[in-house]
Amino acid sequence: MGDEKTEQSERAEPGGSGDGGAESARRRGLTRRALLLGGAAVGVGAVVVAHDELGRLWWRVPGVVKKRKEGEVDARGAQWIAASGANWRRADRPDDYEIDRVVIHVVQGGYRTALKVFKDPGHGAAAHYVVRKDGHIAQMIRELDVAFHAGSRDMNERSVGIEHEGFVDKKESFTDAMYEASARLTAGICERYDIPVDREHIIGHVEVEGTDHTDPGPHWDWERYLRLVRRERDRPARTKAPA
Ligand SMILES: [Zn+2]
Repeated sequence: MGDEKTEQSERAEPGGSGDGGAESARRRGLTRRALLLGGAAVGVGAVVVAHDELGRLWWRVPGVVKKRKEGEVDARGAQWIAASGANWRRADRPDDYEIDRVVIHVVQGGYRTALKVFKDPGHGAAAHYVVRKDGHIAQMIRELDVAFHAGSRDMNERSVGIEHEGFVDKKESFTDAMYEASARLTAGICERYDIPVDREHIIGHVEVEGTDHTDPGPHWDWERYLRLVRRERDRPARTKAPA
């Protein structure tokens, strides 16, 4: 789970700090956008084609943000419960920042506690999703946006954060229903942003550089989780279980 440290590190570096190489690599979205515009600006003759192209990709034009609908969720079956706007930053991912990580967290508390603190503007941190032990999922921040969950500006910009109710030192926190729902959610995220299903791209908060957080802890069964995510990923779309 995030904490005030997250807030500090997110806000302490408003312009990013000297991570030029990684920054540009992660901003491939911007490069794609630049290329598209380059193509559209070739000349008057290209206008008809460009218009057609823009009809499909209108949201890639600078200054045009993707349409958002109140209450809309990115994961099928998730319940929209808005986090406080102080705990995330508006963005336009994956076009301004490429998404290539999923970060697994454990709340160190219950589902209701997570919802309560993520709705609290004073908390300074929140994740995109909270998974309850019966498999119910709340989405609190759109995947378009940067959630303050990993305690690192870089990781926040490139990742989707998933909280799981329970405690790192209690194995029984992590139920079958929770593993399955969370794996379905992660499989969907990996599919949406073409993220490989492996431990390099699906990581624990503990693995974020510079963190002092230990979640999801020793009882989180990574082998099982990755197996479930792969199973969901490989399931033909039409037989996919509702999330
Ligand atoms: Zn965490």
